[in-house]
Amino acid sequence: MTPDEFRRAGHAVVDWIADYWATLEQRPVTPADPPGTVAAALPATPPTAGEPVEAVLADLDAIVVPGLTHWQHPGFFGYFPANTSGPSVLGDLVSSGLGVQGMLWATSPACTELETVLMDWLAQLLDLPSRFRSTGAGGGVIQDSASSATLVATLAALHRASGGRWRETGIDRRYRAYTSTHGHSSIEKAARIAGLGSDGVRAIEVDPETQALRPAALRAAIEADLAAGDVPAIVVATIGTTSTTAVDPVAEIGAVCAEYGIWLHVDAAYAGAAAVCPELRWSHNGLEYADSYCFDPHKWLLTGFDCDAFWVADRGELVEALTVLPEFLRNAASESGAVIDYRDWQVPLGRRFRALKLWFVLRWYGVEGLRAHIRSGVALAARFADRIRADDRFELAAAHPFSLVCFRLCADDDANTELLTRINRTGRVHLTHTRVAGRYTLRLAVGSPQTTERHVDEAWTLLVDTADELLAR
Ligand SMILES: *Cc1c(COP(=O)(O)O)cnc(C)c1O
Repeated sequence: MTPDEFRRAGHAVVDWIADYWATLEQRPVTPADPPGTVAAALPATPPTAGEPVEAVLADLDAIVVPGLTHWQHPGFFGYFPANTSGPSVLGDLVSSGLGVQGMLWATSPACTELETVLMDWLAQLLDLPSRFRSTGAGGGVIQDSASSATLVATLAALHRASGGRWRETGIDRRYRAYTSTHGHSSIEKAARIAGLGSDGVRAIEVDPETQALRPAALRAAIEADLAAGDVPAIVVATIGTTSTTAVDPVAEIGAVCAEYGIWLHVDAAYAGAAAVCPELRWSHNGLEYADSYCFDPHKWLLTGFDCDAFWVADRGELVEALTVLPEFLRNAASESGAVIDYRDWQVPLGRRFRALKLWFVLRWYGVEGLRAHIRSGVALAARFADRIRADDRFELAAAHPFSLVCFRLCADDDANTELLTRINRTGRVHLTHTRVAGRYTLRLAVGSPQTTERHVDEAWTLLVDTADELLAR
């Protein structure tokens, strides 16, 4: 493909994406076809001769798009949002076009330096503790996901807990990780990958009212492990749990970690974005205790997957835990100690220029634009929660500090399961579920950039109409 062919095809593809966004609302949010439909529509063999981009676009329309769940649809209220936006897509396009590798500073200096500055910008934007800034001992890096951030934090924590020996000897003692029963599944996965095993994770009970980790229970678990000769290595606290957006008491948890010298990682994958708004920063109280922290701009901050922002208070510990230096990567800049080599901050060696999409987003929206996006999500969730509160047929199942509302029909689990199935079957909305204190609970997560009051109200109308059918049985 010559640059001129690329220009023509590229314009067609950008037009195609713009049309997709402009017509998104008319599509069903989720596909209704059975498994195998998309695969069956594709040829069994690759094309022998090359084809024009138009042929691929036609198949996108005919085969791929009908088989998608449309995460950017204004009626998408499932899981947590996975925002993208025009500036994010354009930044990613530039990154793809440049095709540089940022594993070392020396392999593409601007790739590293832009990322370092952007992570300092983001730290300012969220008003994170100054210890996370690269101007001191800390610093930030873009990981592909919050799961990777937790893995990397676990490895650094093991390095610290073993006095540096873990690097050479592997796991030779019973190291332990702690999180609440609502901690994300990626914490257990990280523990398995790091060699602690699922049994190495202590699931600490939560307060039944707030679903937040109970610090007294954490302390008791740590003391029991210490008494048994185990080594507490890491505590993962969550700001905005995946189930209900509960906020763990980070300051109290941090005080316990400080007392025992345990690494504190704070996982704010979804809710961290809220801290761009000063009025929501209460959720980050106690963060000055954290050794590491992450949130996903790819969830609620208008930046397409993959973009997890991860900071450490002491980059030296992280780099010591992960660095391996083969001869072919040796270079004068690294040896001078004056540069950051992000390969030592992550699991893979190679890395894309992901800072570009974040840069495009920050410059296009500015601080005010990002705040407006978060505030809109919070206000829409509050509007929906008001409807629930005012209607005897429904009840709220948890607090809604951000843009997620957990609720249920005042009926048994079967009725609530049926309610979710029926409203999702309309294709107008997509909600998902969780369990709160054992009970089936519906989740409505606002955050798609196109969602407005009209869409939240439509979800409410669908719920009420369906509830009447179910309650009349
Ligand atoms: C979504 C989520 C994760 C995982 O996010 P990825 O970036 O997809 O790995 C981790 N922790 C919490 C609290 C989450 O909500």
